[in-house]
Amino acid sequence: MIILKDKLGKTISGESISFIETPNKEGIIVPEYIIIHFTAGRGAENSINWFKDPTAKASAHIIIDSDGRITQMVEFNKKAWHAGRSRWADRSGFNDFSIGIELENPGRLTKVNERFYAWFEKEYSKDVVVTAKHKHENETSYWHSFTEKQLDTCFQVCKLLMETYNIKNILGHDDIAPFRKNDPGPAFPMENFRAKLLGREDDTADMYKVNTEYANVRNGAGIEFEAIAELKKDTQVEFIKSKLGWFYVYVLFKPGKDGEPIYGWINSDLLTKI
Ligand SMILES: [Zn+2]
Repeated sequence: MIILKDKLGKTISGESISFIETPNKEGIIVPEYIIIHFTAGRGAENSINWFKDPTAKASAHIIIDSDGRITQMVEFNKKAWHAGRSRWADRSGFNDFSIGIELENPGRLTKVNERFYAWFEKEYSKDVVVTAKHKHENETSYWHSFTEKQLDTCFQVCKLLMETYNIKNILGHDDIAPFRKNDPGPAFPMENFRAKLLGREDDTADMYKVNTEYANVRNGAGIEFEAIAELKKDTQVEFIKSKLGWFYVYVLFKPGKDGEPIYGWINSDLLTKI
């Protein structure tokens, strides 16, 4: 796979990668993150047509179909509209500095009488179903698997992007918009991608719960900092980073007053890994 003036040029096997223009893009960005999505739709073609539609107000840099074919719609140094309202750690508004990769995949499936259906009522065979718990949910549910070809292509693209841009992390849409989005979900091997591409263990998957009656979330790593939220026992949080015995986390299932996720510091003694 080769990159050419912020476009993918050719695949490893030499065929050209199609570039289909979308009006749903803006000015120049410097990519720092890669955001993985699933299309949650009927097929890659549908997503491409939707992203071409100016009324959609949505787009992604590339779409990878289940056969591993790539369609690029936005140059990697231009802003696509894939992230929406988004926040992770101390960054927000991820469209401004991230590359969005959409994987053709219907997303979560519903089981009815031993049959599996997408939200748009198409039935899928049980061979493609992954039963897993989304990291931000309490119960297991059913997810459409990604194909090996698709994951391999996605990996090659990420690798190439990391060689080309100063990419700091690979995140899911569900990492940066945890209350709105569940993509790419548990069928996507995010830990494996991060370990191989970033050379480190996954740093967003560690979940903890509050082990005392109440725990304060503070705006700094220490009791001298202001408490911004009070969490009850068993509230779940996701670990982002640590400092001096304090964990910087985001709080699951409990949005702040403004409806946005609560981010802040909790004394790690008040948390138990789950
Ligand atoms: Zn998404």
